[in-house]
Amino acid sequence: MCGIVGYIGDKNAAPILLEGLSKLEYRGYDSAGIAVAENGKVQLHKAVGKLENLIKKTDGGKKMTETIGIGHTRWATHGKPTENNAHPHAANRFTLVHNGIIENEAALRKHYLEGVKFNSDTDTEVIVHLLEKFVKEDKDVKVAIAHIIGELEGSFALAIIDKEDMNTIYAVKNKSPLLVGKGDGFNMIGSDAMAMIANTDTFYEIHDKEFAVITRDSIEIFTSYAKKVERDSFHAEIDVSDTEKGTYPHFMLKEIEEQPLVIRRIMQQYSDEDGNLVVDKDIIKDIKASDRIYIIACGTSYHAGLVGQTYIEQLAKIPTMSYIASEFVHNMPLLSKKPFFIFISQSGETADSRAVLVKVKEMGHKCLTITNVKGSTLSREADHTMILHAGPEIAVASTKAYTAQMAVLAVLANALSDNPMNLKYELAKTATVMESLCNNRELFHELSKEFFATTRNCFYIGRSTDYYICLEAALKIKEISYIQAEGFAAGELKHGTIALIEKDTPVVAFITREAVNLNTRSNIKEVRSRGAKVLTISLKRISAHSDQIVIGDVDEMFAPLVSALPMQYLAYYAALIRGCDIDKPRNLAKSVTVE
Ligand code: GLU
Repeated sequence: MCGIVGYIGDKNAAPILLEGLSKLEYRGYDSAGIAVAENGKVQLHKAVGKLENLIKKTDGGKKMTETIGIGHTRWATHGKPTENNAHPHAANRFTLVHNGIIENEAALRKHYLEGVKFNSDTDTEVIVHLLEKFVKEDKDVKVAIAHIIGELEGSFALAIIDKEDMNTIYAVKNKSPLLVGKGDGFNMIGSDAMAMIANTDTFYEIHDKEFAVITRDSIEIFTSYAKKVERDSFHAEIDVSDTEKGTYPHFMLKEIEEQPLVIRRIMQQYSDEDGNLVVDKDIIKDIKASDRIYIIACGTSYHAGLVGQTYIEQLAKIPTMSYIASEFVHNMPLLSKKPFFIFISQSGETADSRAVLVKVKEMGHKCLTITNVKGSTLSREADHTMILHAGPEIAVASTKAYTAQMAVLAVLANALSDNPMNLKYELAKTATVMESLCNNRELFHELSKEFFATTRNCFYIGRSTDYYICLEAALKIKEISYIQAEGFAAGELKHGTIALIEKDTPVVAFITREAVNLNTRSNIKEVRSRGAKVLTISLKRISAHSDQIVIGDVDEMFAPLVSALPMQYLAYYAALIRGCDIDKPRNLAKSVTVE
């Protein structure tokens, strides 16, 4: 899930690479490295841990002079996060960085690289030695790269430099994301547009199994048969300031507080000239022709899918079920006669979801991707796309993309309904209630101190859509504060897990649905009588005097959008109080591009 960046131009490459990597650090931070080249010499600089270590080690690259280079932030899959395993990896002539996993690395080592000395434990090093070997045999770098693409199995985005040609960077792509950025007198490559947006807003896609040959003033894209491809460029609409923290101490806090704005942006983006919320007619037509919807997603997107499934069933009356992508792909349920698939992925690059997409497309089924990134792989390969319009989400733990996913699913469900509700009014109210929660953040800070400062574990309970919020709440606090947490259907607790409740175990209860209010309150009594310390979050009209967090009234259906905020704040402050690295939690990366 690493981040890749490359630059070729007339400026000092190192600071540009380091700046680009800083925008990609959400993709991994086990180590960072750059290779810069000049006059037939390639200099490697690597450091273990976060990018700041490499920046310190190289003094920000300020004194370097090389005008061509490639860089990498690593999320280790093969080999520990050591300096030896840090990218770039080099052989005699070539130096490269890699994002992905080479599935047949053992077979390739055995077949082609017997006797070759390896310096790292990575799968990546196989590629550089293989390239070296093929170039000797094929005599031409382009032919050798095409040869490599034919041999490698798995996912690989590569940036390659050649000691014998200081005027070219090669970019190769399969399954992992990679874009080419076009500049004036320079060109770049990057895992996403954010890595290059400070320098250019014009990009070229590279499709799977293609490669690009990039010089200071030319970009050529080739198929895996080394046949040239003509492709139009596109402009990315990213505001550079969206990629900065501004006055916020962490991206996560900034992104939590952007949520009212995101809801309003979604309303604006999906409005027609008369101000009605609408969805592309072709999407509606394809979904209406189906007899069942399958929502496929991972992690937070899966939790948004669970809420979205209730929207579609209640508003559109179409049977809908959400599935975890990595399970669905290997254990597919019996499909209905006319299934329609909805993929939800913040980045649009999630490898597990893509594996399902490839399979269902082969089976001839129609699908829609709901993503934050226009032009991403899942968006390109689906029949339809709906964009989240959440703006770049930099903190690894998702917040605003999650609520945006639920809001876009509501827009879709309402557009499919024969009896639509006044969704614009409801979403506007939701955004206003979100705002009032943001104005109350000190309360969440205080409650986090009381409940989460030292605890080893905690539980979230709720029923109906509150249960889905509990799943996300538990994930959020696990991700960033490392507290062992579980989300439970409140009625299920007594069937086993209640055995874990001890004196002062924190239990957070969500109560936003009238129909289950009293049931959940009974479950609160059950845990309280076994010593639990309970924090209750409720909707105003069904709140009780002792509830610590009371949310302004919205339609029950949209309660998940508003109750998301207190649970995100509680996780944020828990991590802050416990001294955790909020935006870059351990072992995680944001865009999960390996299966
Ligand atoms: N497999 C490579 C490594 O472990 C790249 C990892 C990745 O892209 O996540 O170094």
